[in-house]
Amino acid sequence: MDGQTITAAPVLILLGPPGAGKGTQARMLEEKFGLVQLSTGDLLRAAVAQGTEAGKQAKAVMDAGGLVSDDIVIAILRDRLAEPDCAQGVILDGFPRTTVQAQALDTLLAENGQRIDAAISLEVDDAAMVTRISGRYTCAACGEGYHDDFKQPSQPGTCDKCGGTQMKRRADDKAETVASRLEAYHAQTAPLIGYFDDKGALTRIDAMGDIGDIAADMGAIVKTATAR
Ligand code: ADP
Repeated sequence: MDGQTITAAPVLILLGPPGAGKGTQARMLEEKFGLVQLSTGDLLRAAVAQGTEAGKQAKAVMDAGGLVSDDIVIAILRDRLAEPDCAQGVILDGFPRTTVQAQALDTLLAENGQRIDAAISLEVDDAAMVTRISGRYTCAACGEGYHDDFKQPSQPGTCDKCGGTQMKRRADDKAETVASRLEAYHAQTAPLIGYFDDKGALTRIDAMGDIGDIAADMGAIVKTATAR
């Protein structure tokens, strides 16, 4: 350190069970605040698609709805965080998911003179998550998310954002796998709500309402947290 004031790039964490809308909200925050969405789920799916060593090890666990080992996920996140675009600030979507990952994140950020600005817990009813997840799909080209019941593109089959016409559904979005993912969330990730609360970084929001209303609540939290 050279004694100058360094304005560290914002670091935001989204917590919430599968289907809570972390990805949808992260993308909206990305656009609104110029932050970079880092989804460990997306990074792992990319590793699986590329057939990397980490991807090979992660695939079976992901298909079963369990959590990939901390070592693999932390290594993937560390590499991604080191890329230049992350200097503008990041929204972590799906990381950390265990206490070990949360501690590793603290260490990684401290090495860069950064800290967590806010952890936002998206609070939802578990029972609604299965419906939400089993109806969702994304544009294969740009990743924009849609839903059979809640958010159809204005022209069926055509992405509103990029005009892409290929839509895809995730392999682990089947009802039986979703049950395992919810179980993993409650056993391993939900304790992080208390972890961030103890650090004074946590805000809870009701994420059962309208996507736009939730985005407005999130935007207000991000504004306050990043203005500090
Ligand atoms: P969701 O939040 O809807 O479950 P993600 O795309 O974030 O979806 O994650 C999909 C899968 O990727 C998880 O079920 C898990 O197997 C794996 N995964 C993603 N992030 C992590 C993480 N931080 N630690 C361990 N496994 C992870």
